[in-house]
Amino acid sequence: AALSRKLFTRASQVIPGGAGSSARTVGFGWHPYPPFIAEGRGSRLRDVDGNEYIDYLLGLGPMILGHRHPVVTRAVADAIDEYGTCFGLPYELEIEAAEKVVDAVPGIDQVRFTNSGSEAVGTAVRLARATTGRRLVIRFEGHYHGWQDVVYWSNHVDPELAGPADQPRPVPSGPGVPLELSDTLIVLSWNDPESFVRVMRERGDEVAAVITEAAVFNTGCILPEPGYLQLLRDVTREYGALLIFDEVITGFRFARGGAQEYFGVTPDLTTLAKGLGGGFPVAAIGGTLDAMRLIAEGRYSHSGTYNANVIQCAAVSATMDVLAEPGLYERQRALGDRLADGLRALTAERGIDAYVEGLGTVFQLWFANRPIKNWRDASAYADEAMFTRWFQEMLLRGVLFHPLQFENLFVSLVHTDSDIDETLTAAADALTAA
Ligand code: PMP
Repeated sequence: AALSRKLFTRASQVIPGGAGSSARTVGFGWHPYPPFIAEGRGSRLRDVDGNEYIDYLLGLGPMILGHRHPVVTRAVADAIDEYGTCFGLPYELEIEAAEKVVDAVPGIDQVRFTNSGSEAVGTAVRLARATTGRRLVIRFEGHYHGWQDVVYWSNHVDPELAGPADQPRPVPSGPGVPLELSDTLIVLSWNDPESFVRVMRERGDEVAAVITEAAVFNTGCILPEPGYLQLLRDVTREYGALLIFDEVITGFRFARGGAQEYFGVTPDLTTLAKGLGGGFPVAAIGGTLDAMRLIAEGRYSHSGTYNANVIQCAAVSATMDVLAEPGLYERQRALGDRLADGLRALTAERGIDAYVEGLGTVFQLWFANRPIKNWRDASAYADEAMFTRWFQEMLLRGVLFHPLQFENLFVSLVHTDSDIDETLTAAADALTAA
């Protein structure tokens, strides 16, 4: 660990909060400093000190095809050879990438590429306000939609420091009670049809959009109760509000068409990022022809210097091709299930209060004595100290998870059976040690 320690000291001089994007190096469960990565390949990472890790962090999700997928990296290199970097001008590869996304995602008839999930969400919310002529947006507690002020509410930092003063703060309240009302944003508890219907009855005519993760993966993994997404669909339609699925995490994850294909509910607008470029930085806002109409007519400007650049479009196009391989999702869902079931069995054998929930290739292990159904459960019942010990013991045994309990484990589409076997062997020891 000598080289990682040296780099950590060096990083601390010039990078506030330490190196790394949001899996930052200060304050999280890394102890006493994180491994600095030298190489990624497939499901594996190697650090500068020569330690190898099976990677379930996957860069917070984007490496859906593992590290350095040969088809995608080749396509990006070839596209640069052909087009140069070509920012800001039209070229055929952009159409090709868009056609493949439209083909994959049920709720997307048209799509525009951009740089990050946060930008895509900001565009979706503003576009919904412009389309409906209304201001009010409904979002849900425990969901994360990026760092833009329009929907900012973070689980990740002290809420007192989290945003501008005009943003509503979630106020603890009983089940079914809206957390707080304001003119521009309402935060409701999720999987709670009664509060949603009641607020829509009171203020549905003012609502521009309802934005939701279609399955919540920013408070661990919380799946929609049967019928809940359909209820959001039906009631938004009844009141003329747009339904936005933020599929930044769920997109391409357990079906090629994302959560909307998997659950069979189609939103008006969809935001995509993480999986979209197979690890390359790209995001997208897509929707039905109606929902995208103002952009098509030039009445709403979706702008951005780097939007739809060559690297993005080449990465999207190649990733969509790889994801079309028959049987891919079934195989990987089975692999994810085997890991989740294995962790359930190991914790049960040891009498550890633990709870594994997820879907296919995204899941989470909570150290808690009851199912975590919402953000308040997570704060109240999850054992953070146990999680940190487990995370550190797994890291020592060559398995990399996210250092925070409410973040996800991602199984890429190139993880193998032997990765799972090794992980479960490590987990057996790590649980005993923790
Ligand atoms: N929406 C969701 C559901 C997310 O999980 C995230 C990032 N974790 C974002 C939006 C923001 O995306 P980005 O970090 O690319 O800005």
